[in-house]
Amino acid sequence: EVTVPAVPPAAPEPPEPPPDTPFDWPLFWTFLRPQLLALSAAVVLALGAALLNVHIPVLLGQLVDVVARCARGHVATYLREVRRPALRLLAVYCLQGLLTFGYIALLARVGERVAGNMRKALFSALLRQEVAFFDATRTGQLVTRLTADIQEFKSSFKLAISQVSPAVSRVSPVDRAGRLSEQLGLGIAAFQGLSNVALNGIVLGTIFVGGSLMAGDQLSPGDLMSFLVASQTVQRSLASISILMGQVVRGLSAGARVLELLRLEPLVPLQGGATIPAHSLYGRICFNHVSFSYPTRPGYPVLQDFSLTLPPCQTVAIVGPSGGGKSTVAALLERFYEPTAGTITLDGHDIAGLDPSWLRGQVIGFISQEPVLFGTTIMENIRFGKPGASDAEVYEAARLHSISTVSPRCPAGERGTALSGGQKQRIAIARALLKDPAVLILDEATSALDAQAERAVQAALERAAAGRTVLLIAHRLSTIRGAHLIQLVATATPPPLPPVGQSPRVGHPQQ
Ligand code: ADP
Repeated sequence: EVTVPAVPPAAPEPPEPPPDTPFDWPLFWTFLRPQLLALSAAVVLALGAALLNVHIPVLLGQLVDVVARCARGHVATYLREVRRPALRLLAVYCLQGLLTFGYIALLARVGERVAGNMRKALFSALLRQEVAFFDATRTGQLVTRLTADIQEFKSSFKLAISQVSPAVSRVSPVDRAGRLSEQLGLGIAAFQGLSNVALNGIVLGTIFVGGSLMAGDQLSPGDLMSFLVASQTVQRSLASISILMGQVVRGLSAGARVLELLRLEPLVPLQGGATIPAHSLYGRICFNHVSFSYPTRPGYPVLQDFSLTLPPCQTVAIVGPSGGGKSTVAALLERFYEPTAGTITLDGHDIAGLDPSWLRGQVIGFISQEPVLFGTTIMENIRFGKPGASDAEVYEAARLHSISTVSPRCPAGERGTALSGGQKQRIAIARALLKDPAVLILDEATSALDAQAERAVQAALERAAAGRTVLLIAHRLSTIRGAHLIQLVATATPPPLPPVGQSPRVGHPQQ
Protein backbone atom coordinates (compact mmCIF):
# COMPACT_ATOMS: atom_id res chain seq x y z
CA GLU A 1 0.00 0.00 0.00
CA VAL A 2 0.90 3.62 -0.30
CA THR A 3 3.39 4.72 2.31
CA VAL A 4 2.55 7.89 4.14
CA PRO A 5 5.71 9.02 5.88
CA ALA A 6 5.70 11.76 8.48
CA VAL A 7 7.13 15.13 7.55
CA PRO A 8 10.13 14.36 5.36
CA PRO A 9 13.39 15.10 7.13
CA ALA A 10 15.31 18.03 5.75
CA ALA A 11 18.14 17.11 3.43
CA PRO A 12 21.36 16.95 5.44
CA GLU A 13 23.90 19.67 4.72
CA PRO A 14 26.32 18.35 2.14
CA PRO A 15 29.65 17.70 3.79
CA GLU A 16 32.36 20.28 3.21
CA PRO A 17 35.61 18.77 2.04
CA PRO A 18 38.04 18.42 4.93
CA PRO A 19 40.25 21.50 5.05
CA ASP A 20 43.47 19.51 5.02
CA THR A 21 42.93 17.33 1.97
CA PRO A 22 46.39 15.96 1.22
CA PHE A 23 47.91 17.25 -1.96
CA ASP A 24 47.97 14.52 -4.58
CA TRP A 25 51.48 14.94 -6.00
CA PRO A 26 51.36 11.96 -8.38
CA LEU A 27 48.18 13.26 -10.00
CA PHE A 28 49.57 16.77 -10.18
CA TRP A 29 52.65 15.34 -11.83
CA THR A 30 50.55 14.08 -14.75
CA PHE A 31 49.61 17.70 -15.47
CA LEU A 32 53.09 19.03 -14.94
CA ARG A 33 54.96 16.41 -16.95
CA PRO A 34 54.04 17.73 -20.42
CA GLN A 35 55.39 21.14 -19.38
CA LEU A 36 58.62 19.77 -17.99
CA LEU A 37 60.87 21.19 -20.70
CA ALA A 38 59.51 24.72 -20.36
CA LEU A 39 59.58 24.38 -16.60
CA SER A 40 63.23 23.25 -16.51
CA ALA A 41 64.17 26.10 -18.82
CA ALA A 42 62.39 28.53 -16.49
CA VAL A 43 64.22 27.12 -13.48
CA VAL A 44 67.59 27.43 -15.24
CA LEU A 45 66.86 31.02 -16.27
CA ALA A 46 65.64 31.88 -12.78
CA LEU A 47 68.79 30.39 -11.24
CA GLY A 48 70.88 32.43 -13.70
CA ALA A 49 69.04 35.58 -12.70
CA ALA A 50 69.59 34.74 -9.02
CA LEU A 51 73.34 34.24 -9.60
CA LEU A 52 73.59 37.59 -11.33
CA ASN A 53 71.79 39.12 -8.38
CA VAL A 54 74.62 37.92 -6.16
CA HIS A 55 77.17 39.30 -8.61
CA ILE A 56 75.66 42.76 -9.03
CA PRO A 57 76.64 44.19 -5.60
CA VAL A 58 80.28 43.23 -6.24
CA LEU A 59 80.30 44.98 -9.63
CA LEU A 60 78.54 47.95 -8.11
CA GLY A 61 81.20 48.12 -5.39
CA GLN A 62 83.96 48.11 -8.03
CA LEU A 63 82.24 50.94 -9.85
CA VAL A 64 81.88 53.00 -6.67
CA ASP A 65 85.58 52.47 -5.91
CA VAL A 66 86.49 53.90 -9.31
CA VAL A 67 84.13 56.82 -8.78
CA ALA A 68 85.54 57.49 -5.31
CA ARG A 69 89.13 57.33 -6.56
CA CYS A 70 88.36 59.81 -9.34
CA ALA A 71 86.47 62.03 -6.93
CA ARG A 72 89.72 62.47 -4.98
CA GLY A 73 91.22 64.39 -7.89
CA HIS A 74 92.01 62.34 -11.00
CA VAL A 75 89.10 63.80 -12.92
CA ALA A 76 90.91 63.65 -16.24
CA THR A 77 90.97 59.87 -16.40
CA TYR A 78 87.45 59.49 -14.91
CA LEU A 79 85.58 58.67 -18.11
CA ARG A 80 88.21 56.20 -19.29
CA GLU A 81 88.43 54.46 -15.94
CA VAL A 82 84.73 54.33 -15.24
CA ARG A 83 83.74 53.07 -18.66
CA ARG A 84 84.72 49.43 -18.18
CA PRO A 85 83.08 48.70 -14.83
CA ALA A 86 80.03 50.76 -15.83
CA LEU A 87 79.57 48.89 -19.10
CA ARG A 88 80.09 45.57 -17.37
CA LEU A 89 77.44 46.46 -14.82
CA LEU A 90 75.10 47.61 -17.57
CA ALA A 91 75.61 44.34 -19.44
CA VAL A 92 74.88 42.34 -16.30
CA TYR A 93 71.77 44.42 -15.63
CA CYS A 94 70.54 43.79 -19.17
CA LEU A 95 71.30 40.08 -18.95
CA GLN A 96 69.52 39.89 -15.63
CA GLY A 97 66.51 41.66 -17.13
CA LEU A 98 66.46 39.26 -20.07
CA LEU A 99 66.69 36.19 -17.84
CA THR A 100 63.93 37.55 -15.63
CA PHE A 101 61.74 38.21 -18.64
CA GLY A 102 62.48 34.72 -19.95
CA TYR A 103 61.66 32.80 -16.80
CA ILE A 104 58.55 34.79 -16.00
CA ALA A 105 57.23 34.38 -19.55
CA LEU A 106 57.94 30.64 -19.44
CA LEU A 107 56.34 30.26 -16.05
CA ALA A 108 53.27 32.15 -17.18
CA ARG A 109 53.00 29.75 -20.09
CA VAL A 110 53.48 26.67 -17.94
CA GLY A 111 51.01 28.00 -15.35
CA GLU A 112 48.41 28.81 -17.98
CA ARG A 113 48.70 25.41 -19.62
CA VAL A 114 48.69 23.41 -16.41
CA ALA A 115 45.71 25.41 -15.16
CA GLY A 116 43.92 25.10 -18.50
CA ASN A 117 44.39 21.35 -18.59
CA MET A 118 43.34 20.99 -14.99
CA ARG A 119 40.23 23.05 -15.66
CA LYS A 120 39.33 20.87 -18.63
CA ALA A 121 39.95 17.68 -16.66
CA LEU A 122 37.91 19.02 -13.77
CA PHE A 123 35.07 19.92 -16.08
CA SER A 124 34.92 16.44 -17.56
CA ALA A 125 35.35 14.92 -14.10
CA LEU A 126 32.25 16.85 -13.07
CA LEU A 127 30.32 15.89 -16.17
CA ARG A 128 30.86 12.20 -15.61
CA GLN A 129 29.53 12.29 -12.05
CA GLU A 130 26.12 10.78 -11.44
CA VAL A 131 23.14 13.04 -10.77
CA ALA A 132 23.15 12.20 -7.06
CA PHE A 133 26.57 13.85 -6.79
CA PHE A 134 25.05 17.18 -7.78
CA ASP A 135 22.27 16.76 -5.23
CA ALA A 136 24.88 16.49 -2.52
CA THR A 137 27.35 19.10 -3.73
CA ARG A 138 26.40 22.71 -4.00
CA THR A 139 26.83 24.09 -7.49
CA GLY A 140 28.53 27.16 -6.09
CA GLN A 141 31.23 24.99 -4.59
CA LEU A 142 31.87 23.34 -7.93
CA VAL A 143 32.07 26.63 -9.76
CA THR A 144 34.53 27.86 -7.14
CA ARG A 145 36.74 24.90 -7.88
CA LEU A 146 36.54 25.45 -11.60
CA THR A 147 37.51 29.09 -11.35
CA ALA A 148 38.84 30.44 -8.08
CA ASP A 149 40.72 27.37 -6.84
CA ILE A 150 42.49 26.79 -10.10
CA GLN A 151 43.30 30.50 -10.37
CA GLU A 152 44.70 30.50 -6.85
CA PHE A 153 46.68 27.39 -7.50
CA LYS A 154 48.05 28.81 -10.71
CA SER A 155 49.24 32.08 -9.22
CA SER A 156 50.84 30.31 -6.27
CA PHE A 157 52.48 27.92 -8.61
CA LYS A 158 53.99 30.72 -10.67
CA LEU A 159 55.11 32.63 -7.63
CA ALA A 160 56.59 29.55 -6.04
CA ILE A 161 58.75 28.73 -9.01
CA SER A 162 59.73 32.32 -9.70
CA GLN A 163 61.28 32.60 -6.26
CA VAL A 164 63.88 30.01 -7.09
CA SER A 165 66.80 31.06 -4.98
CA PRO A 166 68.93 29.12 -2.53
CA ALA A 167 66.77 30.37 0.31
CA VAL A 168 63.63 28.83 -1.15
CA SER A 169 64.91 25.36 -0.48
CA ARG A 170 64.57 26.19 3.20
CA VAL A 171 60.90 27.09 2.69
CA SER A 172 59.48 23.57 2.62
CA PRO A 173 57.81 22.90 6.04
CA VAL A 174 54.71 22.66 4.05
CA ASP A 175 53.18 19.23 3.73
CA ARG A 176 49.67 19.58 5.09
CA ALA A 177 48.72 22.93 3.68
CA GLY A 178 45.46 23.81 5.29
CA ARG A 179 46.42 23.04 8.90
CA LEU A 180 49.39 25.32 8.81
CA SER A 181 47.87 28.39 7.29
CA GLU A 182 46.76 30.06 10.50
CA GLN A 183 49.94 29.67 12.51
CA LEU A 184 51.80 30.51 9.37
CA GLY A 185 49.99 33.82 9.04
CA LEU A 186 51.21 34.85 12.49
CA GLY A 187 54.64 33.43 11.84
CA ILE A 188 54.96 35.34 8.61
CA ALA A 189 53.91 38.59 10.21
CA ALA A 190 56.40 38.20 13.06
CA PHE A 191 59.12 37.11 10.68
CA GLN A 192 58.52 40.04 8.35
CA GLY A 193 58.44 42.58 11.18
CA LEU A 194 61.56 41.26 12.89
CA SER A 195 63.51 40.87 9.68
CA ASN A 196 62.70 44.46 8.72
CA VAL A 197 64.03 45.75 12.03
CA ALA A 198 67.09 43.51 11.80
CA LEU A 199 67.94 44.47 8.24
CA ASN A 200 67.45 48.18 8.75
CA GLY A 201 69.66 47.80 11.82
CA ILE A 202 72.28 46.13 9.65
CA VAL A 203 72.19 49.04 7.16
CA LEU A 204 72.61 51.54 9.95
CA GLY A 205 75.34 49.52 11.63
CA THR A 206 77.15 48.98 8.33
CA ILE A 207 77.25 52.70 7.59
CA PHE A 208 78.33 53.46 11.13
CA VAL A 209 81.08 50.83 11.40
CA GLY A 210 81.96 51.05 7.68
CA GLY A 211 82.35 54.83 7.96
CA SER A 212 84.88 54.50 10.74
CA LEU A 213 86.75 51.76 8.83
CA MET A 214 86.78 54.00 5.74
CA ALA A 215 88.13 56.86 7.80
CA GLY A 216 91.00 54.61 8.79
CA ASP A 217 91.44 53.55 5.13
CA GLN A 218 90.68 49.94 6.08
CA LEU A 219 87.61 49.76 3.82
CA SER A 220 87.00 51.20 0.38
CA PRO A 221 83.76 53.03 -0.36
CA GLY A 222 83.04 50.34 -2.96
CA ASP A 223 83.21 47.59 -0.34
CA LEU A 224 80.74 49.50 1.77
CA MET A 225 78.44 49.93 -1.23
CA SER A 226 78.67 46.22 -2.09
CA PHE A 227 77.73 45.31 1.41
CA LEU A 228 74.80 47.70 1.53
CA VAL A 229 73.39 46.55 -1.81
CA ALA A 230 73.90 42.89 -0.88
CA SER A 231 72.05 43.37 2.38
CA GLN A 232 69.21 45.07 0.48
CA THR A 233 69.03 42.11 -1.90
CA VAL A 234 68.84 39.71 1.03
CA GLN A 235 66.11 41.82 2.57
CA ARG A 236 64.08 41.79 -0.61
CA SER A 237 64.41 38.01 -0.93
CA LEU A 238 63.39 37.46 2.67
CA ALA A 239 60.33 39.64 2.21
CA SER A 240 59.28 37.80 -0.92
CA ILE A 241 59.90 34.44 0.74
CA SER A 242 57.50 35.32 3.52
CA ILE A 243 54.86 36.30 0.96
CA LEU A 244 55.68 33.16 -0.97
CA MET A 245 55.17 30.96 2.06
CA GLY A 246 51.65 32.26 2.55
CA GLN A 247 50.92 31.86 -1.13
CA VAL A 248 52.29 28.32 -1.24
CA VAL A 249 50.05 27.32 1.63
CA ARG A 250 46.98 28.80 -0.02
CA GLY A 251 47.93 27.38 -3.41
CA LEU A 252 48.47 23.89 -2.06
CA SER A 253 45.09 23.77 -0.39
CA ALA A 254 43.36 25.11 -3.51
CA GLY A 255 45.26 22.60 -5.63
CA ALA A 256 44.46 19.78 -3.24
CA ARG A 257 40.75 20.55 -3.49
CA VAL A 258 40.89 20.49 -7.28
CA LEU A 259 42.93 17.29 -7.43
CA GLU A 260 40.58 15.66 -4.95
CA LEU A 261 37.66 16.22 -7.32
CA LEU A 262 39.66 14.96 -10.29
CA ARG A 263 40.13 11.62 -8.54
CA LEU A 264 36.44 11.24 -7.79
CA GLU A 265 34.92 8.26 -9.57
CA PRO A 266 31.19 8.40 -10.33
CA LEU A 267 28.98 5.80 -8.67
CA VAL A 268 27.21 5.21 -11.97
CA PRO A 269 29.81 5.51 -14.72
CA LEU A 270 28.67 7.31 -17.86
CA GLN A 271 29.64 4.49 -20.12
CA GLY A 272 30.06 0.74 -19.99
CA GLY A 273 27.62 -2.11 -19.90
CA ALA A 274 25.54 -4.15 -22.28
CA THR A 275 23.37 -2.87 -25.12
CA ILE A 276 20.43 -4.52 -26.85
CA PRO A 277 20.69 -4.71 -30.65
CA ALA A 278 18.13 -2.52 -32.41
CA HIS A 279 16.32 -5.46 -34.04
CA SER A 280 15.50 -7.07 -30.71
CA LEU A 281 14.61 -3.91 -28.84
CA TYR A 282 10.87 -3.83 -28.15
CA GLY A 283 10.72 -1.35 -25.32
CA ARG A 284 8.97 -3.42 -22.66
CA ILE A 285 9.71 -1.88 -19.29
CA CYS A 286 9.04 -3.42 -15.90
CA PHE A 287 9.52 -1.86 -12.50
CA ASN A 288 9.71 -4.84 -10.13
CA HIS A 289 9.14 -4.02 -6.45
CA VAL A 290 11.27 -0.91 -6.67
CA SER A 291 12.01 1.05 -3.52
CA PHE A 292 13.98 4.23 -3.60
CA SER A 293 15.11 7.08 -1.42
CA TYR A 294 17.38 9.88 -2.62
CA PRO A 295 20.97 9.50 -1.43
CA THR A 296 20.76 12.95 0.19
CA ARG A 297 17.65 11.88 2.14
CA PRO A 298 18.27 8.26 3.00
CA GLY A 299 15.54 8.02 5.64
CA TYR A 300 12.76 9.24 3.36
CA PRO A 301 11.41 6.61 0.95
CA VAL A 302 10.05 8.23 -2.22
CA LEU A 303 9.00 4.89 -3.75
CA GLN A 304 8.23 1.73 -1.82
CA ASP A 305 7.66 -1.63 -3.43
CA PHE A 306 6.60 0.06 -6.66
CA SER A 307 5.73 -2.22 -9.56
CA LEU A 308 4.64 -1.17 -13.02
CA THR A 309 4.78 -2.66 -16.50
CA LEU A 310 4.95 -0.56 -19.63
CA PRO A 311 4.01 -2.82 -22.55
CA PRO A 312 5.78 -2.12 -25.86
CA CYS A 313 4.21 0.64 -27.98
CA GLN A 314 1.71 1.60 -25.30
CA THR A 315 1.29 4.80 -23.35
CA VAL A 316 1.22 4.52 -19.60
CA ALA A 317 0.33 7.61 -17.63
CA ILE A 318 1.44 8.07 -14.06
CA VAL A 319 -0.56 10.48 -12.02
CA GLY A 320 -0.36 11.62 -8.44
CA PRO A 321 0.10 14.68 -6.30
CA SER A 322 3.04 16.98 -6.74
CA GLY A 323 5.96 15.47 -4.86
CA GLY A 324 4.43 12.02 -5.15
CA GLY A 325 7.46 10.59 -6.94
CA LYS A 326 6.42 10.70 -10.61
CA SER A 327 9.58 12.38 -11.88
CA THR A 328 11.58 10.04 -9.67
CA VAL A 329 10.15 7.08 -11.61
CA ALA A 330 11.44 8.69 -14.82
CA ALA A 331 14.85 9.46 -13.28
CA LEU A 332 15.22 5.83 -12.20
CA LEU A 333 14.33 4.64 -15.69
CA GLU A 334 17.07 6.85 -17.14
CA ARG A 335 19.48 5.46 -14.53
CA PHE A 336 20.15 8.87 -13.04
CA TYR A 337 19.76 7.06 -9.72
CA GLU A 338 19.90 3.39 -8.76
CA PRO A 339 16.91 1.84 -6.94
CA THR A 340 17.49 1.09 -3.28
CA ALA A 341 15.70 -2.23 -3.77
CA GLY A 342 14.03 -4.04 -6.65
CA THR A 343 14.90 -3.93 -10.35
CA ILE A 344 13.92 -2.15 -13.51
CA THR A 345 14.11 -4.17 -16.70
CA LEU A 346 14.08 -3.26 -20.37
CA ASP A 347 12.98 -6.23 -22.49
CA GLY A 348 13.92 -8.47 -19.59
CA HIS A 349 17.41 -7.01 -19.08
CA ASP A 350 18.10 -5.32 -15.76
CA ILE A 351 18.95 -1.72 -16.70
CA ALA A 352 21.62 -1.75 -13.97
CA GLY A 353 23.67 -3.83 -16.42
CA LEU A 354 22.96 -1.66 -19.47
CA ASP A 355 25.20 1.08 -20.80
CA PRO A 356 23.83 4.40 -19.45
CA SER A 357 25.09 6.36 -22.50
CA TRP A 358 23.29 4.00 -24.83
CA LEU A 359 20.18 4.00 -22.68
CA ARG A 360 19.97 7.80 -22.50
CA GLY A 361 21.41 8.49 -25.93
CA GLN A 362 19.58 5.95 -28.07
CA VAL A 363 16.76 4.23 -26.22
CA ILE A 364 15.02 6.93 -24.20
CA GLY A 365 13.76 10.26 -25.46
CA PHE A 366 12.85 12.73 -22.75
CA ILE A 367 10.59 15.74 -23.09
CA SER A 368 10.19 17.90 -20.02
CA GLN A 369 7.97 20.75 -19.02
CA GLU A 370 10.59 23.40 -19.74
CA PRO A 371 12.85 22.38 -22.60
CA VAL A 372 16.44 23.57 -22.37
CA LEU A 373 17.38 25.38 -25.56
CA PHE A 374 20.84 26.70 -26.35
CA GLY A 375 21.78 30.04 -27.86
CA THR A 376 22.27 28.69 -31.38
CA THR A 377 20.07 27.94 -34.38
CA ILE A 378 16.95 25.83 -34.12
CA MET A 379 18.65 23.30 -36.34
CA GLU A 380 21.58 22.85 -33.96
CA ASN A 381 19.17 22.72 -31.05
CA ILE A 382 17.41 19.80 -32.71
CA ARG A 383 20.68 18.11 -33.70
CA PHE A 384 21.60 18.09 -30.02
CA GLY A 385 19.34 15.02 -29.69
CA LYS A 386 21.67 13.04 -31.96
CA PRO A 387 24.97 14.86 -32.42
CA GLY A 388 25.97 12.93 -35.53
CA ALA A 389 22.71 13.52 -37.42
CA SER A 390 22.90 14.80 -41.00
CA ASP A 391 21.25 18.07 -42.07
CA ALA A 392 18.63 16.09 -43.98
CA GLU A 393 17.71 14.10 -40.86
CA VAL A 394 17.41 17.29 -38.82
CA TYR A 395 15.20 18.98 -41.46
CA GLU A 396 13.02 15.90 -41.65
CA ALA A 397 12.54 15.88 -37.87
CA ALA A 398 11.74 19.60 -37.94
CA ARG A 399 9.20 19.04 -40.73
CA LEU A 400 7.59 16.03 -39.03
CA HIS A 401 7.05 17.87 -35.81
CA SER A 402 5.51 20.84 -37.51
CA ILE A 403 8.01 23.52 -36.72
CA SER A 404 6.76 25.18 -39.88
CA THR A 405 6.22 28.64 -38.51
CA VAL A 406 9.95 29.28 -38.07
CA SER A 407 12.89 28.32 -40.25
CA PRO A 408 15.25 25.81 -38.67
CA ARG A 409 18.06 28.18 -39.61
CA CYS A 410 16.70 30.83 -37.26
CA PRO A 411 18.52 31.39 -34.01
CA ALA A 412 16.67 30.12 -30.97
CA GLY A 413 17.90 33.06 -28.91
CA GLU A 414 19.65 32.74 -25.58
CA ARG A 415 17.81 29.84 -23.89
CA GLY A 416 15.12 30.01 -26.53
CA THR A 417 13.96 33.54 -25.72
CA ALA A 418 13.18 34.19 -29.41
CA LEU A 419 10.50 31.48 -29.44
CA SER A 420 7.08 30.91 -27.99
CA GLY A 421 6.46 28.17 -25.46
CA GLY A 422 4.73 25.99 -28.05
CA GLN A 423 7.56 26.41 -30.57
CA LYS A 424 10.14 25.55 -27.95
CA GLN A 425 8.24 22.46 -26.96
CA ARG A 426 8.00 21.31 -30.58
CA ILE A 427 11.74 21.80 -31.00
CA ALA A 428 12.18 19.65 -27.92
CA ILE A 429 9.95 17.00 -29.49
CA ALA A 430 11.90 17.07 -32.75
CA ARG A 431 15.13 16.84 -30.74
CA ALA A 432 13.91 13.87 -28.72
CA LEU A 433 12.60 12.05 -31.78
CA LEU A 434 15.64 12.62 -33.96
CA LYS A 435 17.22 9.51 -32.47
CA ASP A 436 13.99 7.57 -32.99
CA PRO A 437 13.83 6.35 -29.39
CA ALA A 438 11.97 3.17 -28.49
CA VAL A 439 10.92 4.74 -25.21
CA LEU A 440 9.61 8.24 -24.70
CA ILE A 441 9.23 9.97 -21.34
CA LEU A 442 6.90 12.95 -21.31
CA ASP A 443 7.24 14.84 -18.05
CA GLU A 444 4.28 17.21 -17.91
CA ALA A 445 5.22 18.24 -21.40
CA THR A 446 2.30 20.58 -21.98
CA SER A 447 1.65 21.94 -18.52
CA ALA A 448 3.48 25.22 -19.12
CA LEU A 449 1.49 26.06 -22.28
CA ASP A 450 -1.68 28.02 -22.92
CA ALA A 451 -4.72 26.18 -24.26
CA GLN A 452 -4.06 26.82 -27.95
CA ALA A 453 -0.38 25.90 -27.84
CA GLU A 454 -1.27 22.90 -25.72
CA ARG A 455 -3.59 21.55 -28.41
CA ALA A 456 -0.92 21.88 -31.09
CA VAL A 457 1.79 20.32 -28.93
CA GLN A 458 -0.58 17.61 -27.78
CA ALA A 459 -1.24 16.67 -31.40
CA ALA A 460 2.51 16.57 -32.10
CA LEU A 461 3.01 14.40 -29.03
CA GLU A 462 0.31 11.97 -30.07
CA ARG A 463 2.00 11.53 -33.44
CA ALA A 464 5.32 11.12 -31.61
CA ALA A 465 3.93 8.47 -29.29
CA ALA A 466 2.88 6.15 -32.08
CA GLY A 467 5.02 3.02 -32.15
CA ARG A 468 6.84 3.82 -28.93
CA THR A 469 6.57 2.90 -25.28
CA VAL A 470 5.55 6.11 -23.59
CA LEU A 471 5.80 6.98 -19.92
CA LEU A 472 3.52 9.95 -19.46
CA ILE A 473 3.87 11.99 -16.30
CA ALA A 474 0.72 13.98 -15.85
CA HIS A 475 -0.87 16.54 -13.64
CA ARG A 476 -3.85 17.40 -15.77
CA LEU A 477 -6.52 15.01 -16.94
CA SER A 478 -6.42 16.38 -20.48
CA THR A 479 -2.88 15.11 -20.95
CA ILE A 480 -3.73 11.52 -20.05
CA ARG A 481 -6.64 11.19 -22.41
CA GLY A 482 -4.77 8.99 -24.84
CA ALA A 483 -3.10 6.74 -22.27
CA HIS A 484 -3.62 2.97 -22.37
CA LEU A 485 -2.92 2.60 -18.68
CA ILE A 486 -2.95 4.95 -15.72
CA GLN A 487 -0.84 4.39 -12.65
CA LEU A 488 -1.03 6.32 -9.42
CA VAL A 489 2.26 7.28 -7.83
CA ALA A 490 2.07 8.79 -4.39
CA THR A 491 4.28 8.93 -1.36
CA ALA A 492 2.38 11.62 0.48
CA THR A 493 -1.27 11.77 1.49
CA PRO A 494 -3.61 10.13 -1.04
CA PRO A 495 -4.39 12.68 -3.73
CA PRO A 496 -7.72 14.04 -4.92
CA LEU A 497 -7.64 12.22 -8.24
CA PRO A 498 -10.08 10.52 -10.56
CA PRO A 499 -11.01 6.99 -9.55
CA VAL A 500 -8.31 4.64 -10.75
CA GLY A 501 -9.52 1.50 -9.05
CA GLN A 502 -9.36 0.34 -5.46
CA SER A 503 -5.70 -0.38 -5.22
CA PRO A 504 -3.66 2.58 -6.33
CA ARG A 505 -0.81 0.36 -7.43
CA VAL A 506 -2.75 -1.72 -9.93
CA GLY A 507 -2.59 -0.46 -13.46
CA HIS A 508 -5.98 0.51 -14.71
CA PRO A 509 -6.67 0.28 -18.42
CA GLN A 510 -8.67 3.25 -19.56
CA GLN A 511 -9.65 2.11 -22.99
P1 ADP B 1 6.58 14.52 -8.64
O1 ADP B 1 7.25 14.36 -9.94
O2 ADP B 1 5.47 13.53 -8.43
O3 ADP B 1 6.12 15.91 -8.35
P2 ADP B 1 9.19 13.99 -7.54
O4 ADP B 1 9.54 12.67 -8.07
O5 ADP B 1 9.76 15.20 -8.20
O6 ADP B 1 7.61 14.14 -7.47
O7 ADP B 1 9.57 14.07 -6.00
C1 ADP B 1 9.22 13.06 -5.07
C2 ADP B 1 9.84 13.38 -3.71
O8 ADP B 1 11.25 13.29 -3.82
C3 ADP B 1 9.55 14.79 -3.24
O9 ADP B 1 9.37 14.73 -1.83
C4 ADP B 1 10.79 15.54 -3.55
O10 ADP B 1 11.00 16.58 -2.63
C5 ADP B 1 11.86 14.48 -3.44
N1 ADP B 1 12.97 14.74 -4.33
C6 ADP B 1 12.90 14.95 -5.68
N2 ADP B 1 14.11 15.12 -6.20
C7 ADP B 1 15.00 15.02 -5.18
C8 ADP B 1 16.41 15.09 -5.08
N3 ADP B 1 17.16 15.30 -6.16
N4 ADP B 1 16.97 14.94 -3.87
C9 ADP B 1 16.20 14.72 -2.77
N5 ADP B 1 14.88 14.63 -2.79
C10 ADP B 1 14.26 14.78 -3.97
